Amino acid sequence: MARLTFLGAAQTVTGSQYLLEAGGERLLVDSGMFQGEKELRLRNWAEPEFDPAKVDAMVLTHTHLDHIGRVPRLVKQGFRGPVYCTPATRELAEVLLLDAAHLQQEDAAYLNRKGLTRHSPALPLFEETDVNEAMALFRPVPLGRPQEVNDTFSFTYRDAGHLLGAASAEVRVLEDGRETRVFFSGDVGRFDAVLTKDPELALESDYLVVESTYGNRTHPAIPVLDQLEGVLKRTFARGGVLLIPAFAVGRAQQMIYLMDQLVTEGRVRAFPIHVDSPMAIDATRIYAAHPEGSKVSLNNIGGRSLLHGKWVHLHRTRAESEALNTMKGPAVIISSSGMLAGGRILHHCRVRLPHPENTLLITGFQAAGTLGRALLDGAHVVRIHKGDVAVLAEVRDLKGLSGHADAGEMMRWLSAVRAAPKAVFVTHGEAEAAAALAARIARERGFEARVPAHGDRVDLTPGEPGRPDPEVP
Ligand SMILES: [Zn+2]
Repeated sequence: MARLTFLGAAQTVTGSQYLLEAGGERLLVDSGMFQGEKELRLRNWAEPEFDPAKVDAMVLTHTHLDHIGRVPRLVKQGFRGPVYCTPATRELAEVLLLDAAHLQQEDAAYLNRKGLTRHSPALPLFEETDVNEAMALFRPVPLGRPQEVNDTFSFTYRDAGHLLGAASAEVRVLEDGRETRVFFSGDVGRFDAVLTKDPELALESDYLVVESTYGNRTHPAIPVLDQLEGVLKRTFARGGVLLIPAFAVGRAQQMIYLMDQLVTEGRVRAFPIHVDSPMAIDATRIYAAHPEGSKVSLNNIGGRSLLHGKWVHLHRTRAESEALNTMKGPAVIISSSGMLAGGRILHHCRVRLPHPENTLLITGFQAAGTLGRALLDGAHVVRIHKGDVAVLAEVRDLKGLSGHADAGEMMRWLSAVRAAPKAVFVTHGEAEAAAALAARIARERGFEARVPAHGDRVDLTPGEPGRPDPEVP
């Protein structure tokens, strides 16, 4: 009998990792990094609950670090199988993982240099060489094409509409001639979102593993452009700088696109946009190279590339980044990481937060325990690099730009599932959000919905024998 073990993103939003075992074979779906609370982050350092050398393959849903960030370490620990992902995910993953390796190496070096660590020396989770070894195992698989892993496992990717290359994975487990279908949602995007396409609806399966980041919330319907226009005008009237922490992949491109729209529509006078993130620059190049993945081509808006627009300035080196410290408004700085969990944005926060003319604009989900969450919760003083930083700048939350479906959209995503699955496992949400979505699925659809805990293991009973093959689009 197949078994499914929840090794991450159980009652939390990070660290996605699911282990499927059947017929003596093992398959991991996602292997993400834990982020946020220290107790969670320590799990990144823990020995895996399985022998990485005995895992046959990995299937990654998308490129966010909380879905792929443990891959290089697993390779270092002996994993040698193929790592399946979509073609765009492969390109983006290389950029993201290399950046993560550099950030960890830089942060460790900074802590060691300043004597700010109790560990001597502080170490990165993985390094550039680990990433290069991992990337050699990546195998791109396009959306909609069934992929055989071995005699036991096969899978098909479906567009999850979450960001470029993001997919849900329909995994089929064949054991003793009987098939069990397990549908992993990955991160499900929004309907009618900026740039990204609508998610493909969930398919009927024996089991569903469903994300619940916003399982207890409804995204407000305030138009994003109106909110952004207000924030820009207020900040610029004060002569301030608008600081935007943004995930380099997806969110940074959306923000450049939205600001370009405001200027094009004549709602805001042109202003310099400083993209202070080598990763965001690389990611935008990949976005432009995969026009099929977006609703609009980033590379051809008004006949020019957004990235090379007259007002967009790109900053790759550390010196270029530091030169921004003395810059006066009006101007925008886009930098990562999106949850203020590390990276150059921390230096900009240290410089900009103590001044009331500036604005910090949060543009995405902030996990509990992150600096972004503390700022959103109204902290007057925050700790950055072990120093106190006063928060006098305006802190705002740009609503409606989330890459995740809200509770109602998750129900819409499930609407094509007619026959009740044997169970729906609600994951990738903080405990309350997961419980709320599970309750709603049970109430509105009558499906058995559970919220697994970290380490939970369930036996999966196979579907009916002789069921016809799923349709290939
Ligand atoms: Zn994601």
